[in-house]
Amino acid sequence: MLSVVLATCLIAFENPAAPSPPGAVILLGAPGAGKGTQAEQLVKRYGIPSISSGDILRDQVKRGTDLGRLADPIMRAGQLVPDKVLNPMIEERLSRPDCARGLVLDGYPRTVAQAEALDAMLQKKGLPARVFLLEVPREALFKRLTGRRTCPVCKRNYNIYFVPPRKEGACDNDGAALVQRPDDREEVIRERLATFEKQTQPVIEYYSRQRRLIALNGDQAPEKVFEDMVAKLPPTR
Ligand code: AMP
Repeated sequence: MLSVVLATCLIAFENPAAPSPPGAVILLGAPGAGKGTQAEQLVKRYGIPSISSGDILRDQVKRGTDLGRLADPIMRAGQLVPDKVLNPMIEERLSRPDCARGLVLDGYPRTVAQAEALDAMLQKKGLPARVFLLEVPREALFKRLTGRRTCPVCKRNYNIYFVPPRKEGACDNDGAALVQRPDDREEVIRERLATFEKQTQPVIEYYSRQRRLIALNGDQAPEKVFEDMVAKLPPTR
């Protein structure tokens, strides 16, 4: 109990200048729409954690856990990991003290069953939710994903078309050889985009029907997308 209280205090004092958090911010959008980039900015501004279902799954794969072994082939095929596996994983993550005041969700929910489960989780926590959809044309998504490279050491992201490293294939920070995510290969990208259209489009309709969806133009500079998003968040101190 004491550790929970201490952890909560530490989070509150970590960034005393941060504006009060906007509750739960749900980022929807196709793979490559910029959800991760916007999540990073929200973390910086509000001092709330970002929860990326894809990152949690990749970590499980890397560690070779049971969940990782189940998820690995599904992710490599560009399909969705079953809801019955994802929902408890997210619920456990949301129950940690750092999520008490707010959080950003990147990559979850991706099915209507996940959206319904998430509504119940947030209601239980008493957190209001804002749902943003980052809209980006398909051709732009394709280039963003096929060009994406990451440094395995410092995790810095590049794009060979838009943000190339100074020396081809090497990280500007530490010189490590840049890597491509196994699911950022062309055949898998096609499948991921098809999965998005088939399974995540209904999630967009779910929020839209309830008049909770805020659509943003994601096909502009990341700073501009962020500015547009903050303008739609409730005013903070
Ligand atoms: P991402 O990094 O968000 O593009 O996710 C990478 C992969 O992880 C996806 O293509 C899916 O295979 C899996 N994944 C991530 N989030 C979810 C989710 N909410 N539901 C089901 N599968 C997911």
